[in-house]
Amino acid sequence: MAGGSMDIIVAGRHRPGRGPTVESVDPATGAAFAEVTTATAEDVDDAVTAGATAMRDPAWRNLLPHERARLLHRTGELIEGESEELARLQSRDIGKPLSETRALVASAAGTFRYVAAALETLDEALTTPRGPYLSMSVHEPIGPVAAITPWNSPIASEAQKAAPALAAGNAVLIKPAEWSPLAALRLGELLLRAGIPPGLVSVLPGAGRVVGEALVRHPGVRKVAFTGGTTTGRRIASIAADKLMPVSLELGGKSPVIVLPDADLDQAVRGAVFGIFSSQGQACVAGSRLFVHRSVHDELTGRIVAAAERLVIGDPMAKGTHMGPLISAEHRAAVESYVQLALDEGGHVRTGGERPTEPGLDSGYYYRPTVITGLDPASRVCQEEIFGPVLAVLPYDEEEELTELADSTPYGLACGIWTRDYRRAWRLARRIESGTVWINTYKQLSASTPFGGVKESGIGREKGREGIRAYMTQKSLYWGLDEAPATWGT
Ligand code: NDP
Repeated sequence: MAGGSMDIIVAGRHRPGRGPTVESVDPATGAAFAEVTTATAEDVDDAVTAGATAMRDPAWRNLLPHERARLLHRTGELIEGESEELARLQSRDIGKPLSETRALVASAAGTFRYVAAALETLDEALTTPRGPYLSMSVHEPIGPVAAITPWNSPIASEAQKAAPALAAGNAVLIKPAEWSPLAALRLGELLLRAGIPPGLVSVLPGAGRVVGEALVRHPGVRKVAFTGGTTTGRRIASIAADKLMPVSLELGGKSPVIVLPDADLDQAVRGAVFGIFSSQGQACVAGSRLFVHRSVHDELTGRIVAAAERLVIGDPMAKGTHMGPLISAEHRAAVESYVQLALDEGGHVRTGGERPTEPGLDSGYYYRPTVITGLDPASRVCQEEIFGPVLAVLPYDEEEELTELADSTPYGLACGIWTRDYRRAWRLARRIESGTVWINTYKQLSASTPFGGVKESGIGREKGREGIRAYMTQKSLYWGLDEAPATWGT
C-alpha cells in the first residue's frame, strides 16, 4: 500500500499489534492508503507494565525538571522540523485542508515548548508552619497516564496530553482514534528520537471498546485524559469511579454565538462562518447555534448564506481550499440525517443541505456548508451535537433571554459574543455557563490558557501552567526542627 504498513509502539518498540489490521482511508477519495496493526488488551498490559517500570528507573525519576524540559523542547523542534510532512499526512488521513493541519502541527510543537518552559519554572511550596517543623508540599508523578484522543485534531490533541504527562514524570500511553492513528504514531517516534526513555512511550491504535477500555480498566493506569464524545466520556467516568481514578474529560459541545444589534456585522459574519465551517464543522467548539438580534437577523442571515456559498470545497491539499471532506461516509450520513431532521422539525435550509456536485468530488465524503433558519431552540437539531457543517440561525429579542437560550443545551464548552459594547459583553460572558467565551473573536486557543468545559462538556482543564499539575499528585513533607525530644502528652 502506498502509505505503507505501520505497527503499534509498545514501550518504545515498534511491533505488530495482536489485533486486526485496519486500513487508513483518504476521505477525499475513499481510497485506502495505509495499513495499521492494532493493539489488544494484552498489548495494553505490556505497555502499562513497562511504563510503570520505566517511571521508577532512577535515571528518569531523578532527572531534574530543567533536564526533562530539554527533552520536551527537543520534541517541539523535531515536530517543527517535520511540520510539512506531518501536515500532509494528517490532511490525507482526516481530510482537513492543509492550512488547518499546518496549524495543528504548529500547535503541537508550541505545546511542547510551552510545557517545557512552564516546567522549568514550576515552584514547590513551603507551607506556613503551625508547630516546630518546616512543612512543604511537593508534587510527584501521578502514575502511568492513558491519553485517549478523537480523530478531529490529531497531533494537537495528543500533544496536549503527552507533553504535560511526560513533563510531570509519567509514562504516557496514547490511544488515538481508529480513524486517525498515523499522526500519533509519528509523534511517538519523535518523542523517542528526542530522547524520552522508550519505556515511557506507547502508542496503541485500535478500537475504543477494546484498547481504550482496556486502558481505562487497567489497574496500573492511574489517570485517564480523554477527549471525545460525551457518551464515551460518561462510560469512562463510570469505570474510573470504580477504580477511584482521576479523569479529565474534554467532551462535546453545542456552542452558542451571539450577535448583539450593535456588533460590527462584517466581523461577526466572518467570525460566525469560520466558527462553524472551518474543519467542516467537526470541531468540539464549533459555533453551531447563532443567536442574532431580530433587528439584524435577516440581513445577517443573507450575508452568512452568501459567505458560505463563496467557500471553496475541494481537495484538502489544494491551495485555497476552505473545506475538505468529512471524516467518513458514515459520519456524512449522520450529518445528512440531522439536516433531514431539521426539515422535519420545520426548519428551512437556506443554503447547502446537499453533497457538492463539482467534478472530482464524487468519491470523497464532501458536504456543503449548510445554514438553517426557522428552528425552535429546543428542537433536537439545536440541542444535539451534529459535528458537521450545519449552522442554525435563531432570532432573539431581548438581552435578558440570551443567558437562558445560550445555556439551554446540556453542553457548556464555548460561546462567542459579537458586540461593540464591552459592558454588555462582560455581563453576558460572566453569566453564560461555558468553559471559554470569545468576545469579538472565535476559536482562538492558546497553550497558556486553560481549556475545558462545564456541564456535559467535561470535567477538568487542560493547558496553562496548571495543566502540568493535573498529571501530578501532591505529597506533604514535615521536617521536625525541635531540638528537644518529643514528650508524650505534654
Ligand atoms: P468518541 O468518543 O467516539 O471517541 C474518542 C476516543 O475514545 C477515540 O479514540 C475512541 O476510539 C475512544 N473510545 C471509544 N469508545 C471507548 C471506550 N468505551 N473506552 C475508551 N475509549 C473509547 O469521539 P469521536 O472520535 O467521534 O470524536 C468526536 C467527539 O469528540 C465529539 O463529541 C467532539 O465534540 C469531541 N471533542 C471534544 C473536544 C474537547 O476538547 N472538548 C475536542 C475535540 C473533539 P475509536 O476511535 O477507536 O472508537
